[in-house]
Amino acid sequence: MLQPLEILQKYFGYKSFRPQQKEIIESIISGKDNLVLMPTGGGKSICYQIPAIFMKGTCIVVSPLISLMKDQVDALKAHGISAEFINSSQNHHEQNKIEQALNQGTLNLLYVSPEKLVSDGFMNKLERVDINLFAIDEAHCISSWGHDFRPEYTKLAQLKTKFSHVPVVALTATADKITRRDITKQLALKEPQVFISSFDRPNISLEARPGQKRIEQIIQFVKERPNKSGIIYCLSRKNTEDVSQKLQKKGVKAMCYHAGMPDGARAGIQEEFLKDNLQVVCATIAFGMGIDKSNVSWIIHYNLPQNVEGYYQEIGRAGRDGSPAESVLFYSFRDYTVLRDLLSKNASKNTEVKISKLERMLQFAETQSCRRKVLLSYFGEDLATDCGNCDVCKNPPQYIEGKIIGQKALSAVVRMKEKVGINLLIDVLRGSGRREIFERGYNTIKTYGAGREHTNSEWQYFIQQIINNGLCEIAYDQNNIIKLTEAGKELLYGNRSLQLASLAKKLERQKEIKAAAKVKTKTQTIADELFEKLRGLRRRLAQAKGVPPYIIFTDKSLLDMSKNKPLTEEAMMSIQGMGERKMHLYGDKFLNAIKEYVIEKGRDGQKITGSTQLISFDLYQRGISIEDIAKERGLTKSTIINHLVHLFEAGENIDISQFLSEKEYKIVKQVVSQMQTPFKIKDVFEALEGNIDYDKIRFAMAQMGRSKI
Ligand code: ADP
Ligand code: ZN
Repeated sequence: MLQPLEILQKYFGYKSFRPQQKEIIESIISGKDNLVLMPTGGGKSICYQIPAIFMKGTCIVVSPLISLMKDQVDALKAHGISAEFINSSQNHHEQNKIEQALNQGTLNLLYVSPEKLVSDGFMNKLERVDINLFAIDEAHCISSWGHDFRPEYTKLAQLKTKFSHVPVVALTATADKITRRDITKQLALKEPQVFISSFDRPNISLEARPGQKRIEQIIQFVKERPNKSGIIYCLSRKNTEDVSQKLQKKGVKAMCYHAGMPDGARAGIQEEFLKDNLQVVCATIAFGMGIDKSNVSWIIHYNLPQNVEGYYQEIGRAGRDGSPAESVLFYSFRDYTVLRDLLSKNASKNTEVKISKLERMLQFAETQSCRRKVLLSYFGEDLATDCGNCDVCKNPPQYIEGKIIGQKALSAVVRMKEKVGINLLIDVLRGSGRREIFERGYNTIKTYGAGREHTNSEWQYFIQQIINNGLCEIAYDQNNIIKLTEAGKELLYGNRSLQLASLAKKLERQKEIKAAAKVKTKTQTIADELFEKLRGLRRRLAQAKGVPPYIIFTDKSLLDMSKNKPLTEEAMMSIQGMGERKMHLYGDKFLNAIKEYVIEKGRDGQKITGSTQLISFDLYQRGISIEDIAKERGLTKSTIINHLVHLFEAGENIDISQFLSEKEYKIVKQVVSQMQTPFKIKDVFEALEGNIDYDKIRFAMAQMGRSKI
């Protein structure tokens, strides 16, 4: 019987478990109830799929996302695992067929919607089936405290009464304590083992940018990543329409997606996005919940999100296959005040909590220390070292003397009698001709135009820091006007110093970093080119089968192939995500594409022009057999051997033991030493009475030649 690790390798094509997966699987197999908290993309599914395959019987997976079930089941089938789903999207006949398969015990996994599961008839049918596990996905839906309560979930408590001997595993990406307790209680889990994984997703880079000229920045960002798909989250429908139109005008395949659109249109967009026919979706938060696309490679937040939980869940949709992914958050202080006003207007008993969550979100956006540390600390985790994969780590703040800057701003605040908000303050500092300034006479104050040397963005950046330093504060109950604090007075009267991070320096450095990143090594260019070729192949295969491309291979698998350029079946099997089934279905096609490419371009982009011998050698080094090289190149086997012999004589590192045994070498050597010079290979062959073939003799003689030196 296959052990869990062997199942992981054989079916899923992964070499090792991620942290905690092994422990969770073992705990399930031992028959315990389990509660699993893992971030989106952390790898929850494998935790129940492997026990489902390992144990006798069928695992019932409860999932609220009907739209997802088909994809999940397709993905399992692509791995050669027997799985089906049953829900209201199917007609009677289809449901019957699946129930039959269930009764026959041929299914490893059956996905069901909670409604279907708790319907009377179905529960009774299940009692006659050998069930090995109940997996409750998105288990937070059971809690009315959670953000996604589903009343049907509360009926799942029946499971532990009706099937007291069957273990239950509840899985979720929402970690807060109340929800956790609620899940355990409502599902009536028996002393569950609780597994809480790190919420870190190190492959997603984190970045926050001041939100000026957002559209321009976004267009540039997308243009620089022509083959990478992503999601832009906007707060309003209007924004989604705006951004998608502007991207379309620039020739980008982008669409908007929001709750105001008809269901059919939304489903269509989702489908096109899954199939890689649509590069960008500009969406309100409604999008993404039901999508399991593993190759979303970036997420942009057009505005400051309302809380860190939501933000983190959204960026979590990028890089699910583990390949490098990016997230960019645009924010401005105005975003914050708009949201805050909105929350205050719709006052409810939770308003205070919501506002404090919004504040934490702003703090995250404005932080000048490792962003991942700040983020993880929000979820109660301590990151030991700076992450190296956020904008702050890559481009640490460069501080400048900020006393005079601060004094200019605060003096303007005082001279305008603490009656203005941030934007007007900046306009005054920059000497703008805005009508309001003249109407209110602010053009006559001493600090009018005193800050012209800094751009609007720079001032936004400075003032945020001045606020964070406690030198002034915002009166949210008075139209967000700025008021001086005691500490601010100290600065104004010269009794306090101030260091400010410089936006200009940050941007300058950013440009340098970007320019450096653009200089690609030749090896990288070649890998990129091959990746595109493989992506094309994958797209054609996916179209022919009518499945999303990532069902065939994830981007991560293709990246791995383009980097390592496997040419043999063994080498191909060690590619991430290459299970036996996929090798069987697609292995050859991809091997051929890689082979073709390597022959045309040579290894690592050094196109081998001069020597036909080197081409053979190149292929030989990639582990291709002599027969295959000959076939591939349309030459005879003995020509290829000749190439290798020549190179061996010239000192190339060729292991000839695979062509010639030690014993054979000795025999040839013996015969050759007795030959009269000059002699031909044919003479040796005849002297050996045809017992050792020509190729071996050639290698033996080459070896003798080398030994002499
Ligand atoms: P979640 O349900 O937690 O959001 P998934 O179960 O969809 O995450 O897993 C996310 C991705 O990680 C999938 O592409 C999955 O195949 C991959 N994955 C899971 N476990 C491993 C592993 N041990 N090694 C490599 N990739 C893995
Ligand atoms: Zn960092």
